[in-house]
Amino acid sequence: MASRLSWQSLRARPALFSTVAVAGIGAYYGTRSFLLPMGHAESPEVPKIFGGFGFTTLRLQDVKVVNHNTKRLVFEFPDQDAKSGLSLTSALLTYSWPKGQWFPVLRPYTPISDLNQTGSVELMVKHYPNGKASSHLHSLAPGDTLTFAATLKGFPWIPNKYSQVYLIAGGAGITPIYQLIQGILNNPNDQTKINLVFGVNTKQDLLLREELEEYKNRFPGRFNYIYTVSHPKEEDSSLRKGYVTEELLRDVMRGADKDTHVFVCGPPGMENALVGSRRSPGVLGRLGFSKDQIYKF
Ligand SMILES: Cc1cc2nc3c(=O)[nH]c(=O)nc-3n(C[C@H](O)[C@H](O)[C@H](O)COP(=O)(O)OP(=O)(O)OC[C@H]3O[C@@H](n4cnc5c(N)ncnc54)[C@H](O)[C@@H]3O)c2cc1C
Repeated sequence: MASRLSWQSLRARPALFSTVAVAGIGAYYGTRSFLLPMGHAESPEVPKIFGGFGFTTLRLQDVKVVNHNTKRLVFEFPDQDAKSGLSLTSALLTYSWPKGQWFPVLRPYTPISDLNQTGSVELMVKHYPNGKASSHLHSLAPGDTLTFAATLKGFPWIPNKYSQVYLIAGGAGITPIYQLIQGILNNPNDQTKINLVFGVNTKQDLLLREELEEYKNRFPGRFNYIYTVSHPKEEDSSLRKGYVTEELLRDVMRGADKDTHVFVCGPPGMENALVGSRRSPGVLGRLGFSKDQIYKF
């Protein structure tokens, strides 16, 4: 199957999931055998793992526990010189058939590894109680395999198109936001300024904190963040308390100029409150941002 889909088209029409699964299974059995590299003809020197035809099955190389509900999973490429071949802000649609389920489960996960990295790709997965895919992913041990059905294109990022971006993440929603941060800051030709607002339940949920700190030190004045913790377990004066509210965003956001863009990824409640609906503008609308200045992952 042609493996580039828009995640938003799938999110809007869940029935498409089953179509993807059926089409994908056909392609899987019809075109490739287990663990074959999905080399891509774009560049003969650097093989690409994703973006070709059929499903891709990769072996889990390493698992790291991040906190009470989150793990980092590294999947190894069959060719150590290969790259993922993903474009910035893409997600991978995982395909699994957890025990006891009648149907396969397809869920997107956004790699947190640098897209130019060779040899492996890393996912960070939050476990939801009774969550079908996340329970399956958390049950995997090194040596097990996971199948990827497709790549899902995200936002078509163009370096320097905006002078600054506001990135608003909630919980595990940091993964696409982090991929975008890496893509912008690791590109010496991209000078976009980045302001991140990251809302979590507890301090332990501040995922990728060390990585974000390192970027802040490397790019002073270009990358800034604010963390806000809704249910802090202990006093910590370096962190704001509460949810990502209109008041907080009003403090952080310096006008909705035309060359400013906002990216949002978080739990549905947070996304809806910020982005609004057809009838109500949402917090970002009240702050002056038009719908076409806002992208929801
Ligand atoms: C573009 C995109 C990229 C994503 N990337 C990542 C990623 O890198 N890492 C990651 O951990 N997740 C990511 N997700 C979320 C992921 O795709 C799954 O939705 C999530 O793992 C839950 O799937 P599940 O099958 O375990 O839960 P399900 O079986 O679908 O749901 C079980 C229960 O879990 C709760 N639940 C499920 N999803 C959420 C949610 N997002 N917020 C709050 N409660 C929820 C609900 O109460 C639900 O009833 C991404 C989502 C999108 C849209």
